[in-house]
Amino acid sequence: MAEEKLKFETEVSRLLGIVANSLYSRKEIFLRELISNASDACDRLRYELLTAPELVADAPEFRVRISVDKRKRIVEIDDNGIGMNREALISDLGTIARSGTSAYIEQLGDKADLNAIGQFGVGFYSAFMVASEVEVISRRAGEGQAWRWVSDGTGEFAIGEGERDVHGATVRLKLRKGEDEFLDASRLRHVARTYSNHIALPIVVVDEDGKEETVNEASALWTRPRKEITEDQYREFFHHVGGFGDPWMTIHWKAEGALEYSNLVFVPSNRPFDLFDPGRKHGMRLFVKRVFISEEAEDLVPPWLRFLRGVVDSEDLPLNVSREILQNNPMLARMRKAIVKRVLGELGKKASKKPDEFETFWENFGAVLKEGLYEDPENREAILKVARFHSTAGDELTSLADYASRMKEGQEAIYYVSGEDREKARLSPQLEGFVAKGVEVLLATDPVDEFWIPAVGEYEGKAFKSVTRGGADLDGIGTADEKPEEDERPDDSKINALIAMFRLTLKDEVKDVRISERLTDSAVCLVSDEGDLDIRIERMLKHSNQLGEISKRILEVNPRHALVVSLANSVGKDKAGQNVEDAAWLLLDQAHIIEGEQVPDPAAFSRRLNNAMSAGLAA
Ligand code: ADP
Repeated sequence: MAEEKLKFETEVSRLLGIVANSLYSRKEIFLRELISNASDACDRLRYELLTAPELVADAPEFRVRISVDKRKRIVEIDDNGIGMNREALISDLGTIARSGTSAYIEQLGDKADLNAIGQFGVGFYSAFMVASEVEVISRRAGEGQAWRWVSDGTGEFAIGEGERDVHGATVRLKLRKGEDEFLDASRLRHVARTYSNHIALPIVVVDEDGKEETVNEASALWTRPRKEITEDQYREFFHHVGGFGDPWMTIHWKAEGALEYSNLVFVPSNRPFDLFDPGRKHGMRLFVKRVFISEEAEDLVPPWLRFLRGVVDSEDLPLNVSREILQNNPMLARMRKAIVKRVLGELGKKASKKPDEFETFWENFGAVLKEGLYEDPENREAILKVARFHSTAGDELTSLADYASRMKEGQEAIYYVSGEDREKARLSPQLEGFVAKGVEVLLATDPVDEFWIPAVGEYEGKAFKSVTRGGADLDGIGTADEKPEEDERPDDSKINALIAMFRLTLKDEVKDVRISERLTDSAVCLVSDEGDLDIRIERMLKHSNQLGEISKRILEVNPRHALVVSLANSVGKDKAGQNVEDAAWLLLDQAHIIEGEQVPDPAAFSRRLNNAMSAGLAA
């Protein structure tokens, strides 16, 4: 087959443009990325050979070999892994597989630099940081034909037949001007050692005279004793398994007993851009006796811990286990249980000992962890223990236990207010009475809060209760001297008459009109009835088309508000009827506006508002 020219996918072209023009200072990471790919390719072949030993003539001694040709200015990274055939070369090196990546590059636009995209691993394409031309000669294990892929990284690549004796891949870089440092074997040894010491197979650097030197320990990092591993080595391994930046927490332990397995688990310090992408890969890799089995071992940790990165290496699972059989494997289930327990335990320790550091974690991954509260009842208690909340009490996060310890006399429920963000939630009129009485209210601003709160219902016998729902319990809370003064309030008969008129006017629009115990500053607010959904949850469900109609709300009226007081005092006087009616509509519209909702009839609203303003000016 003759050589063929093909175009890169648009996103790849864009990525290549960023890579080639970047002023990135750590260009040597290209070597890390290529070694990482080579090592993964060896891991994959090792796995395939478990069930298909006929793929290769002799069992390979896996290794990565780095060599240079100073005269031709070429650096070569060669592996004897699984290799790529023509199709794989085209798709793996010409498109971006990871879902969400394209959208992310799109969103970064022109200002993207490598520091920003480094988080999803520029991978193979990082070769173009130092090379003006990249050539890949590869043969897929079990296939006879080798292929050659070549590109200068500007829009196109060529693919044709190639020559190669053994399976695997050779990546050949023609160095750009100014990148001569990478022709120096000692520099390559240094870089390879820095970034790849954790790699479990030998990384061999060959110098100009053909002398070979293995630069790494070539033993799986997770099998080494903790004491012997430096922070840098942990960090490099974290990057190898897809992390970026520093790990926020490194948990490395060996389980011994009925089941034996080693674990090296990282909690990242940054939120990956695709955390909420349903197509996202899990970050935990499963090994059996040092042999890589699966990168997407979904059963290893539950979805609500999907931000974890790392490795679990089992001594007990059969080596020829297929990825399919892994699902529902009871051994795996037990390992998973133990891993979850350990991780939650470590998180709990951090939460109580280093609350400041824990806050970083919680802001990144709290919303994901909370998914476990309704998906995983078995771990509910443990998650509730580490869960933290913003509240009206201050800027610091609080635990439920601490909240409970601050509950007021007579307070039976844990109050929360939902909202799109903390600032909006804090401004909710429904909160006023609680704040006035010093009753703390949790700010539930993560979308997931709308699901777990109703599912969980209570914490240690105390119900979660929305402040936008039901009759306020405020009357029963606090001691007598904490209760607000009642003097500005007009007598009950006048207020009741006003409320009755409001009810009559608004009877088709609201479920009821009531005197409010929860308002101090605002004149009115909307709440939902005891048995109904929280009004903000309802709104969210309606938005996402999961709910047809919003149920009717209750309009609460503040009997101490100046406007309400004068309206009540006007009842029974001349022409009061029309004024009160207009006021009822205007106040209801106002309550909608405060909720961030649309006014049902903007024209009528404007007319009434104009009338009220003219009357005010005339007076
Ligand atoms: P990533 O490694 O994050 O998937 P890369 O751009 O580095 O992204 O590589 C894309 C894909 O190309 C890899 O997932 C792998 O399937 C294939 N690949 C890259 N290098 C090799 C190699 N040396 N041997 C076999 N396959 C490779």
